[in-house]
Amino acid sequence: MEDIVIIGAGTAGLSAAIYARRAGKKAVVLEAMTYGGQIINTPDIENYPGIKHISGFDFATGLYEQATALGAEIKFEKVTGIKLSSDGIKTVKTSSSEYKTKAVILATGAKNRPLGLDREEELTGSGVSYCATCDGAFYKGKTVAVNGGGNTAIEDAAFLSSLCKKVYLIHRRDKFRADAADVEKLKAKENVEFILDSTISRLEGDDTLTGIEIHNVKNAVKQHLDIDGLFIAVGQIPDNSAFADVAELDEKGYIKAGEDCRTKTPGIFTAGDCRTKTVRQLTTAASDGAVAALAACSYCDSTEINS
Ligand code: NAP
Repeated sequence: MEDIVIIGAGTAGLSAAIYARRAGKKAVVLEAMTYGGQIINTPDIENYPGIKHISGFDFATGLYEQATALGAEIKFEKVTGIKLSSDGIKTVKTSSSEYKTKAVILATGAKNRPLGLDREEELTGSGVSYCATCDGAFYKGKTVAVNGGGNTAIEDAAFLSSLCKKVYLIHRRDKFRADAADVEKLKAKENVEFILDSTISRLEGDDTLTGIEIHNVKNAVKQHLDIDGLFIAVGQIPDNSAFADVAELDEKGYIKAGEDCRTKTPGIFTAGDCRTKTVRQLTTAASDGAVAALAACSYCDSTEINS
């Protein structure tokens, strides 16, 4: 039997694995996709204390290597649910296996929110993208638009401005959630044009995106933009429905837990962007990983469950 099963190999999950292993616990990390979570797509991290600059890929790879060097097992399997037994043992079921464990840490992160426009899914990969670092190179020397006003949109637009002829930054308000310093840096770039108080009302093009229709929310004026690519960065949505029977979810689907990372079920903890919180940053994901792992370790030490 495992001591701790960690679901998700993003910053929170891998930080939890590092703390669990350093406390001498058997820890397995289960991940449906690839290690690193959302940060792997960030071109340049500038706000992790102690590190002036690092790419998201290098940061995530460093975490992965640190966790595995400490003995954490990382398996690429999609978790489908958790069964609770009266003796306190939790059985974590995946698409190909199952794991019995004393404690579980849910660190499932969040996925990209779509705009919900007609043909958005059909044009994804044909001009519509959710990842500037993955797909930006396809638009070298071309004209693109980024939609959103958070850190992701501003970082994506900055990254694309170094590759593309022209970048439009479209945001539905004139105030930004992104760090003010980054917004100012982006405004100073000659090939970036801000289109504020505006939403995208239509995607245009047959097999490939060729343009968009924009709607100004203040004066109702519509305009057309010819673009080769659209990068959608309008936030994230959680995906925790598989755990609704073991952890309480809020109306948006985030796992309800406070700063102690405890869910309603003893022995089940949660960490990172998937839990209810006001600040979702790399630092808070790493911090949650540590808190949840140490809480899970003390649960393992105090529980009557036999190994
Ligand atoms: P976010 O901060 O939630 O921002 C989403 C943006 O999309 C907001 O500006 C929002 O507008 C806009 N939006 C939401 N729904 C929309 C819709 N249907 N149509 C048009 N616009 C819409 O998301 P994020 O930028 O992906 O960041 C997620 C979290 O990760 C944040 O906590 C962020 O700080 C963090 N992050 C950190 C770093 C870093 O530390 N380096 C990098 C990236 C992300 P409103 O402002 O009007 O609501």
